[in-house]
Amino acid sequence: MPAVPHEPVTMDKIVSLCKRRGFVFPSSEIYGGLGSSYDYGHYGVLLRNNIRTEWWRAMLQERDDIVALDSAIIQHPRTWMASGHLANFSDPLVDCRTCGLRFRADHLHQSQCGRKPSKAPGETPDCDLTEARDFNMMFETTFGPVKDKGSTVYLRPETAQGIFLNFRNYLQFARRKPPFGIAQIGKVFRNEITARNFIFRTREFEQMEMEFFVPPAEAAQWHEHWMEQRAAWWTRLGVRPDHLRLRAHDPDELSHYSSATSDIEYLFDDEWSELEGIANRGDFDLRQHAEHSGQKLEYVDSATGERYVPHVVEPAAGVDRAMLTFLYDAYDEDEIEGEKRTVLRLHPLLAPVKVVVLPLVRKDGQPELAHDVYAELRERVQAEYDEGGAIGRRYRRQDEIGTPWAVTIDHRSLEDRTVTLRDRDSLGQDRVAIDDLGDEIERRLRAPWHSPKLGP
Ligand code: ATP
Repeated sequence: MPAVPHEPVTMDKIVSLCKRRGFVFPSSEIYGGLGSSYDYGHYGVLLRNNIRTEWWRAMLQERDDIVALDSAIIQHPRTWMASGHLANFSDPLVDCRTCGLRFRADHLHQSQCGRKPSKAPGETPDCDLTEARDFNMMFETTFGPVKDKGSTVYLRPETAQGIFLNFRNYLQFARRKPPFGIAQIGKVFRNEITARNFIFRTREFEQMEMEFFVPPAEAAQWHEHWMEQRAAWWTRLGVRPDHLRLRAHDPDELSHYSSATSDIEYLFDDEWSELEGIANRGDFDLRQHAEHSGQKLEYVDSATGERYVPHVVEPAAGVDRAMLTFLYDAYDEDEIEGEKRTVLRLHPLLAPVKVVVLPLVRKDGQPELAHDVYAELRERVQAEYDEGGAIGRRYRRQDEIGTPWAVTIDHRSLEDRTVTLRDRDSLGQDRVAIDDLGDEIERRLRAPWHSPKLGP
């Protein structure tokens, strides 16, 4: 692995930028917050929309073997019996009898003792930890007005099961034949024992999952294919390759359903952490649902009569971890004319705002012309208008949220209908005719891009 250069970024800086610029807020703050639960503000929403759009683009627009689904969050409770979640979806929990805190047994070294936060639980003579026991992470609620045993349902802990439940619909109505995939994005809920690291691990989050159904003999080959495709997605969107790795699970790490899984991991603050799992789930899920529902979940070739239960390859990523990764990877600090600047070197396709329009001064007809330019640009891309404060300060505000281009209207603009187009990364300023501006920005948006943090 190539040496990783010194980084100006830390998780603390990302947390503070996110709050300062309204990407992420602690949830229920006026009531003192609900630990590890977050709300996404304006720029956070725009960034997340762009992440989802790029995922859908890779799944749907660039291929013709995947279709989309949006299934219910609450599914029939037998779903979770069949999937194995009721029996197996648990983490090992330990209690400390001294401080009363609970910890995940396999995360003790990253946790803090309730009395001596500089130590890990179990490291002081006072710590008195129980044996680990299984803690099921599904959230329970009741369905309908009568609260009895039969009305217990679960908030889905993954989107995948909704896809298996609809497999038959897609064979029948979408007339699909393996290999084909079904993709969905949606909220999921896991009662994590220790939610931590900002939006990296929360109890409510969003997944982007795709189940790819294949003839059994082709599963290993498709697993390889999806590992390559998914790793390429992250780097195409600007994540630096020396901060990304693919790691195969050891046999004792594998989930109950998986015969092979590899994680795409990112290097946050010197620690490699999972961003996405790519699993070969075999025929476990379809067989389980067939057995529990009594329905046939298999593919039958009408021409040859061949029938089989497809195997499934699943890339599963999180929107929240993706957002954190793109922000962390893009964060940079430099100096312009002796002044420190914070800049998010986001891929332009991910940047919440693509272009800002700035009149140099608030007089001489510049704001009026700038408003016209803004009105035209906002029809094509997410744009902002800003006339408040010194021009340098206005550039800085946009650099900090990752806006790749700034259009400045000056006195010359009123004479010859040209503007300057400033680039966030190179700081280059080009003179562009107002009539060509929209086309030029769209051309730059679609041009190949790599992180300037990687050098020229
Ligand atoms: P971990 O080992 O970190 O708990 P996992 O292996 O249980 O994750 P998967 O079930 O494979 O995760 O879920 C797929 C993706 O969903 C993960 O790669 C991650 O991006 C995201 N994810 C999982 N748990 C959380 C969480 N608690 N908060 C935010 N994102 C999550």
